[in-house]
Amino acid sequence: MAKEAGRGRSMVFAPAYAQAVEQRLDLGRHLRHAIDEGTLHAHYQAQVELPSRKVVGFEALLRWSHPERGPISPAEFIPIAESSGLIVDLGLWVLREACNQARTWIDAGLPARSVAVNVSPAQFWNMDFETAVSAVLAETGLPPHLLCLELTESLFVDHTEQRISRTLTALSALGVRLALDDFGTGYSSLGYLTRLPFDRLKVDRSFVDGIATRPEKRKLLGGIIALSRGLGMSVVAEGAERESEVQVLTELGCDCVQGFVFARPVPPDAAPWIAETIEASVAAPSLIPDSQD
Ligand code: C2E
Ligand code: MG
Ligand code: MG
Ligand code: MG
Repeated sequence: MAKEAGRGRSMVFAPAYAQAVEQRLDLGRHLRHAIDEGTLHAHYQAQVELPSRKVVGFEALLRWSHPERGPISPAEFIPIAESSGLIVDLGLWVLREACNQARTWIDAGLPARSVAVNVSPAQFWNMDFETAVSAVLAETGLPPHLLCLELTESLFVDHTEQRISRTLTALSALGVRLALDDFGTGYSSLGYLTRLPFDRLKVDRSFVDGIATRPEKRKLLGGIIALSRGLGMSVVAEGAERESEVQVLTELGCDCVQGFVFARPVPPDAAPWIAETIEASVAAPSLIPDSQD
């Protein structure tokens, strides 16, 4: 008891950063066992083609339920997984899980839809990544063109364009699609876009928010869409929360949209039903919620 009180007191006076470090270590320790304990799950968010409003794919997003703290946001645990190197195992797990799931949907007779998987730089650099991807495709039997790998501009930090290009070209040769995620939030030169084999540009939510009311934002997004069109890439808009934003995205010729206006990320069992609901509501546009959250 006295020991406990002593420990408690030192915690009270511990600098905030020491507590933050302790919390990170604790999360890291639990995360290490997450795969074996079955506390890690992939959820799926619909990607909706414009103007048809057909669900053409899903993005797999990791969800983790901490044994004591409950659900922890990827924004909190992915950086911990990245700095500890755990991301290599977690990333491979989610890749295999998502490919398996997409294959299961095809086997169940559902329309062929792609699956997008996020890839951290550590995965890309720390192992023979294209061999791992190729093995997962062979093992799951998913047609390569139905897998999209999402990479962020953080990939470009500390590596030569030649090295990045070599791996991206090898992945592209497997037939998988490559997307540049969170476009516009990073610090890379636009020159990369002209030289690297990306198929898709995912425009960050900060560029989508406000396009219905602010002409300058609409112009900026229109410019980004024209740019990617010119470079032969398709554009996915992230984070549309309002029907008015979807209208503008459609007018601007955006290829695809992913956002709460259509669906949040959901467990695999709910995903086909969500897709059906989105596609059915095309016939009755008034059913599409004008979400304000
Ligand atoms: P991301 O890859 O850019 O994924 C999109 C994020 O935006 C997801 O957050 C999604 O839930 C959220 N989002 C989608 N539509 C809307 C919207 O309309 N409004 C708002 N407010 N948010 C929306 P989530 O699931 O929390 O994931 C956050 C980030 O964590 C992801 O950003 C990605 O960078 C990372 N992440 C998630 N799963 C994985 C994974 O399996 N591997 C890796 N390396 N990173 C992952
Ligand atoms: Mg992503
Ligand atoms: Mg993103
Ligand atoms: Mg992100």
